[in-house]
Amino acid sequence: MFVPALISLVLAQAPSLKESRALVDDLYAARSGPMWKRASVALKTKVGSEAGLGQVMAATRNSLGREVRVITESLVDANGGTLYRRVSAVTNWARGMELELAFDADGRLTGMTTRPAVKEAPTVTALHKTKTPLRLPFDGPWYVLWGGRKYDDNRHTPVPDMRYAMDVFIVKGPGTFQGSGGRNEDYWAWGQPMLAPADGVVVAVENGVPDNVPNQPRPGVLYGNTVVIDHGTGEFSLLGHLQKGSVSVKVGDRVVAGQQVARCGNSGMSTEPHLHYQLMDDAEWTKAQGLPAQFRGYLANGRLVETGEPLRTQVVSHAAVEARRETARESPAGE
Ligand SMILES: [Zn+2]
Repeated sequence: MFVPALISLVLAQAPSLKESRALVDDLYAARSGPMWKRASVALKTKVGSEAGLGQVMAATRNSLGREVRVITESLVDANGGTLYRRVSAVTNWARGMELELAFDADGRLTGMTTRPAVKEAPTVTALHKTKTPLRLPFDGPWYVLWGGRKYDDNRHTPVPDMRYAMDVFIVKGPGTFQGSGGRNEDYWAWGQPMLAPADGVVVAVENGVPDNVPNQPRPGVLYGNTVVIDHGTGEFSLLGHLQKGSVSVKVGDRVVAGQQVARCGNSGMSTEPHLHYQLMDDAEWTKAQGLPAQFRGYLANGRLVETGEPLRTQVVSHAAVEARRETARESPAGE
């Protein structure tokens, strides 16, 4: 039986997007009062007091860090109540975090959870064809750990500016390092030249972030040391996690394709020396949308790709350099 009056009474109590957002604002601002007022009896019993709720909120806040940008938000019906889901880029987790507030049928807050985002961010640039003639920003063979357009292939995809980013490492034999792996120097990628992928002007540089001890990423400085290059095509390259003090260009410098701009490092939210590369539509990554980066003239697992996007598990290298090596091998006497 349909009872309009009752339905409208229940709906009146369900949280609106605006109310949910206000609670998240309270969470980040460490204001426990409004959340305590909204809390269900069960939640109040669980946390004991407003101070107890404040501690839960602080723990959540510490796991998220600062919110950089909101990616998606929604209200969905679940278990007779409502879930507010908000996917954000945050400073303490590189790849997008989902915060969920659960409300019961009376619109009372019953809990708060966080988990890594696992869905690709909405994108308006999927059909974008790269205008800049990009070459890979390194020489020699590198292994693509994360690359591609789907979350399963690329853990960057939940975050808009990283939507088409890639992480590359050097793998030799069984892995990315020799020895214990406890020092950055153990890693094959450490200190390797990082190159401008195309001509452009340097528009941002970060060079003072300490390199991490392997497997101890530093929250709060996402990309660590970075170089951002404006290619003059509406496209901007970002190279991240660079070695402290290795950036050899400054803002305003003109660079040419293949020019060394830094060395590979382990700064920011990075567990071991590797390169994070992304193409964007803005110099400022907190505002940018990621663009598909189609590189030209590279080998992927030994096969020439004239224009393409490196994919997870591929070993990729700049073809012209490989061709020069091949020639050198064929004519050892040289010319
Ligand atoms: Zn990355």
